[in-house]
Amino acid sequence: MRSLSVPILCLVVVAGLAHAGDKKKDDPSQIGNRDVGKGVNFYSIEREMALGKQLAQEVARQAKLVDDPLVSEYVNRIGQNLARNSDAKVPFSFQVIEGEEPNAFALPGGYIFVYTGLVKLADEEDEFAGAVAHEIAHVAARHMTRQATKSQIANMATIPLSVLLGGWAGMAARQGAGLAVPTMFLKFSRGDESEADFLGTQYMYAAGYDPTGAVSIFEKIESLNRSKPSAMARIFSTHPMDADRIQKTQKEIDRILPAKDEYVVSTSEYHDMRERLIRLDHRQKKDDNGRPQLRRAPGNGAGPEDRQDSDERPTIRRRELVE
Ligand code: ZN
Repeated sequence: MRSLSVPILCLVVVAGLAHAGDKKKDDPSQIGNRDVGKGVNFYSIEREMALGKQLAQEVARQAKLVDDPLVSEYVNRIGQNLARNSDAKVPFSFQVIEGEEPNAFALPGGYIFVYTGLVKLADEEDEFAGAVAHEIAHVAARHMTRQATKSQIANMATIPLSVLLGGWAGMAARQGAGLAVPTMFLKFSRGDESEADFLGTQYMYAAGYDPTGAVSIFEKIESLNRSKPSAMARIFSTHPMDADRIQKTQKEIDRILPAKDEYVVSTSEYHDMRERLIRLDHRQKKDDNGRPQLRRAPGNGAGPEDRQDSDERPTIRRRELVE
């Protein structure tokens, strides 16, 4: 009997329904037919969407969005494919924000923002998809408005952005990407984070990805945390990315997602988009500093121009399961 994906609020309110709902939540073939967002909520879906739109406009004003049609188009395509394979009932938009942190966040009503730092860290498309699917899961489960409801806050428009900007790894969005966000509130409970991990891996699996891509990006975050503890300390102070969370995700993948013969691990389009974004980012930094930085050129041996003869089909292979 699984317990970690049951939100506390849900347990109290619909304890009697929890069993039947749980079985469906374990079954990826039921995605779309399960009401994962149920629970006490003061916000109608319409109000949630309007609120998200308003906040997304605020983020766009405060943050520096990556304005490159190729990057935007591909990130959006990955996102829409995952959203189609999710329980969410709202339309989604996906945008890239300039920022070094390996983070992403979701606003209520389907507005997802990813940082360039996340694309850089995710060498393979399934790792990137793992982080995006986690954010989609927060939206599908309506964690933001349920959390706000739980806090008995009547007028959500007055809540600081920090309450709403829960990073995909449970991080608080922080200053540095142009967002002045105090970390005075806990955005998501640990239970919400576990549920988003649980649902997110199902969505990426349903979209054809290797679900262990989520484990892989978690491990990268954790190792970053170990190697640069001071830089990451603030991000991780509320919801640590730890071995426990990684293990839970791997266990749930083994328990509920039947192995497929083939998974999408990565695509040449993803690699091209990532290289392009890294190149744009370097150019931006060069412009910002007024002089070139001594870094290896991104096209050196691995750029899109070096793989012109690679075909458009996804890389399909089985990933070795992590013990
Ligand atoms: Zn999260």
